[in-house]
Amino acid sequence: MNALEAQLQYVFGETLPAPGETMEVAPGVRWIRMALPFALDHINLWLLRDEIDGRAGWTVVDTCISRDESKAQWEKLFETQLEGLPILRVIVTHMHPDHMGLASWLCERWNAPLWISATDFNAARIASQSTTGFGGAASADFFASHGLSDPESLEKIRARASYYPSMVPEVPRRFRRMQDGDIVKIGGREWRCIAGYGHAPEHIALYCDELRVLISGDMLLPRISTNVSVYDVEPESDPLRQFLQSIDRFTELPADTLVLPSHGKPFRGMHERVRQLHEHHEERLREVIDACRESPKSAADVLPVLFKRKLDLHQTTFAMGESVAHLHKLWHDGRLKRERDSQGVWRFSLA
Ligand SMILES: [Zn+2]
Repeated sequence: MNALEAQLQYVFGETLPAPGETMEVAPGVRWIRMALPFALDHINLWLLRDEIDGRAGWTVVDTCISRDESKAQWEKLFETQLEGLPILRVIVTHMHPDHMGLASWLCERWNAPLWISATDFNAARIASQSTTGFGGAASADFFASHGLSDPESLEKIRARASYYPSMVPEVPRRFRRMQDGDIVKIGGREWRCIAGYGHAPEHIALYCDELRVLISGDMLLPRISTNVSVYDVEPESDPLRQFLQSIDRFTELPADTLVLPSHGKPFRGMHERVRQLHEHHEERLREVIDACRESPKSAADVLPVLFKRKLDLHQTTFAMGESVAHLHKLWHDGRLKRERDSQGVWRFSLA
């Protein structure tokens, strides 16, 4: 546990649900944990006892990436954890592969509808049919324009054109739209949709006041800071501003709310965590400003300032997006200005 985590309360200690099993974390709310083949090696999914149109069953929140291991774990859950009841609804917090991957498979298998924001539904449909934002030529060109010059890395990014479809081969053809402020009735309880920006196009977190529980998705994680990146499809965006504004809304919820994050363990201390994240990004922004004070810097130049550890290619692409996000926050705030150098690389200096 790091020093910041020590200021949070992990209410279940080190206890995790075993693969293929669930663990009740609040009345009618069960925790599922599935392995991921990345540095971020797991995702939390949630199984909520439900009843829709008089039919008893379950609502699932998030689905894991599409691969045999996750399907096998789902099969075991169907057999042993559903009390013989069907899955009635699939909610997806946002379009990223670890959340969206098996939505189509689950919806088809149970004849259940998909609930998601319209923005993420459409982004997922496009991404599952193309390369936008997750590798491919457009992505490589974008990173090159921000100073990534290693030919081997650029070649690998160029070649990674079907990155998203490999983990999300299909997206359901229909959906039910969730919007900020909507109330979703799950098992007779009201859950309020809270839209968040800066991580995914339109991420939906769900808050139940009766249970004092927040399903935070990726918008509030206890251990790591949420990835906030600029992507080639929206090259001038300011996702860090969007993210910081979005998480402030969680401080309007009661301080003792139990937070169910997509990665890491359930925790209390939401207000503290929001404060920590602001501080974390403020520090990074200060370091970036200091670096740009010396001489104009590209996003690639800033990587070692932001990330002290050695990065593999997968991490480098995330890190480049994050680096641009920090530079763009300062640029949009008017603290940095940018100029394209003779190589076509964006360089940022004090405004
Ligand atoms: Zn995500």
